[in-house]
Amino acid sequence: MFILKKYLHGVNSPKVVIIGGGLAGLTAALHLEQKGKQVLVIEKNQYPNHKVCGEYVSNEVKPYLEQLGLELCNLGLPEIDTLQISTQNGKLIEVDLPLGGFGISRYVFDHKLYQLAIKKGVNFLFDTVVDVQFANDEFSVTLSSKEKIHSKVVLGAFGKRSNLDVKLNRGFIQEKSPWLGIKSHYENNGHPSNLVGLHNFPGGYGGLSQTETGDVNFCCLVKYESFKKEGGIEAFNQKVVSQNPILKDFLANSKGTFEKPLSIAQISFEKKKVVDDHILMCGDTAGLIHPLCGNGMAMAIHSAKLAAEQVVMFMEKPNFTRKDMEKEYQMLWEKNFGKRLWMGRRLQDLMLHTKWFNLGMHTVANSKILLRKLISNTHGNPILH
Ligand SMILES: Cc1cc2nc3c(=O)[nH]c(=O)nc-3n(C[C@H](O)[C@H](O)[C@H](O)COP(=O)(O)OP(=O)(O)OC[C@H]3O[C@@H](n4cnc5c(N)ncnc54)[C@H](O)[C@@H]3O)c2cc1C
Repeated sequence: MFILKKYLHGVNSPKVVIIGGGLAGLTAALHLEQKGKQVLVIEKNQYPNHKVCGEYVSNEVKPYLEQLGLELCNLGLPEIDTLQISTQNGKLIEVDLPLGGFGISRYVFDHKLYQLAIKKGVNFLFDTVVDVQFANDEFSVTLSSKEKIHSKVVLGAFGKRSNLDVKLNRGFIQEKSPWLGIKSHYENNGHPSNLVGLHNFPGGYGGLSQTETGDVNFCCLVKYESFKKEGGIEAFNQKVVSQNPILKDFLANSKGTFEKPLSIAQISFEKKKVVDDHILMCGDTAGLIHPLCGNGMAMAIHSAKLAAEQVVMFMEKPNFTRKDMEKEYQMLWEKNFGKRLWMGRRLQDLMLHTKWFNLGMHTVANSKILLRKLISNTHGNPILH
């Protein structure tokens, strides 16, 4: 409440408001704070909490996170260097990952970034933003309490689907999406810590990878149509997911550690505006890559870096206008992520088309070079500050 009063009275209006304190919002806040900019993050939930996510992080963002001050090497994280893919009937191929990655639960990842941000002096406000208006070269951000905060810049980092998408009347929110995400953690002694699995089943696919506790994350993306017929996650796992013998074996030899799995509906992979009503969108708010690519988190972090860099230029260079900032960010976002999103869509279409996927697996099994090329096309190079 102290923070709220401080800002509401205009004594110390923040220069930058970041809506949403997930990976994108926290990264942008740390970057801007490091550059000496005054930031306020508004997040609707307290930390820590679990989120629906496969929790495999591509190494492309590791050096940047470390430069921001996140000491990943002290967390004892599983290092992942191999990808295993299977078809519905359990045909398997394994390939080494060109860059590799690490496993970390969102419970710990987001919380560590939050604790770091607090330590570095980032301000947080725990409330839901219900509206954002831009007028006279300034934003007015309305909270659920009806109170308003004014700022020069707003970054939108409010995730894949938020009340604000409705309020801002964003295009994708008008369309229904058939996708549902389900996640849980399991005790399982057989899953190698260096392996991320991607396993197909009718109407969807699921990923397996270890987290920092040694438990295995099992996260699926499924068509709602296929899910609803079974009437619940337990039955769905038994009747549909277990049609893949690898997943059947995993589920039979694992014990769930969550009270119940988490799920989110209406996950949209449609194109979104990267700059909407002068708000620079980052992370999933700007666009979500299909989870099978395993680098949505890396993209969220990278896009936050790109947005923060443009904000710094806008604040420091008198000739770099708001229009320049918006145009440059949009261009950089497209350049870095446009092709990956396109590739992700094509790969997901292929994976869900049983006949073509089986054929594709056969081709790829004979040419791991091709599979490595596909992986490289959905990932970026390591990023630095
Ligand atoms: C099924 C599935 C599996 C996935 N697996 C992987 C994987 O293995 N590897 C990978 O790299 N990526 C994966 N992803 C993608 C990854 O989860 C996302 O790309 C990542 O979470 C994006 O982070 P973000 O910061 O943009 O959003 P989020 O982490 O969702 O953060 C958004 C924040 O905004 C807050 N918020 C929303 N609205 C408001 C409001 N009005 N006011 C205040 N706060 C608000 C929310 O509470 C939330 O904390 C997966 C995605 C799905 C759906």
